[in-house]
Amino acid sequence: MTLSSAQSSAAGTLYVVATPIGNLDDITARALRVLREVSLIAAEDTRHSARLMQHFGIGTPLAACHEHNEREQGSHFIARLLSGADVALISDAGTPLISDPGYHLVRNARAAGIQVVPVPGPSALITALSAAGLPSDRFIFEGFLPAKTAGRRARLEQVKEEPRTLIFYEAPHRILECLEDMQLVFGGERLALLARELTKTFETLKGLPLSELATWVAADPNQQRGECVVLVAGWPAPEGEEALSVEALRVLDLLLQDLPLKRAAALAAEITGVRKNLLYQAALDRQKDV
Ligand code: SAM
Repeated sequence: MTLSSAQSSAAGTLYVVATPIGNLDDITARALRVLREVSLIAAEDTRHSARLMQHFGIGTPLAACHEHNEREQGSHFIARLLSGADVALISDAGTPLISDPGYHLVRNARAAGIQVVPVPGPSALITALSAAGLPSDRFIFEGFLPAKTAGRRARLEQVKEEPRTLIFYEAPHRILECLEDMQLVFGGERLALLARELTKTFETLKGLPLSELATWVAADPNQQRGECVVLVAGWPAPEGEEALSVEALRVLDLLLQDLPLKRAAALAAEITGVRKNLLYQAALDRQKDV
């Protein structure tokens, strides 16, 4: 079977291929086959990926597709695909497009009617979540937080009352300040987990309340090295109260800017489908906080 046998058009297929996040044994058999058989591999960093290809004895040509050239270079890949070549998109590690380049290429390929086929494999956020022991039925991925304190705290404030498990990527040199800001905004009691160097030699998963986790990381410089994912338990609804979604609270806050409390709660209930009493109580609580 050729890679593009399922296609009716003469165009090639764009394969979005996940690669390991540390342990090379995590590459899938299908990923290896696709990387071997395509005409071209669009890679975030060709030198980095050349080492991966060498390890697996893959000789397919590599071409750069990173965030700085993705838009211009994208048309080159689209042209190759339209001329019938199969192309694989990879990033330095994990799943392309997940805090990695590739979005513009995938969007443009789909817009051009090119078949886009995902070849799944590792991603740090799912790897961390799978072993965190935090609720995994519903979660949100926030990617990287802003690098500066004010922006980071503002973003954390936005998700402070989010009931779903929160997942963040963070650079090692900012991990301590990130945990300290989380402690400040979410409160030190909130359960969190630091997943560091996943699938690698010094893999560490440490789950503790935020205040203890920050102290633990501060005390050991080794915990401020390598790659890390931070997971934080969702906002625990106050006793006896259902959790209001961030979206419901956003709608309520917007309406409260222009309407009396009762009317804002009633309208927010109509818009969001959440019980009016619950929104009314939340509006009262918000007034108390002012
Ligand atoms: N595309 C990748 C994915 O699917 O996970 C993510 C790429 S993003 C540029 C890199 C960030 O992912 C790192 O800063 C870290 O937060 C997280 N990450 C990647 N590999 C990791 C690992 N082995 N252990 C922990 N976190 C990792």
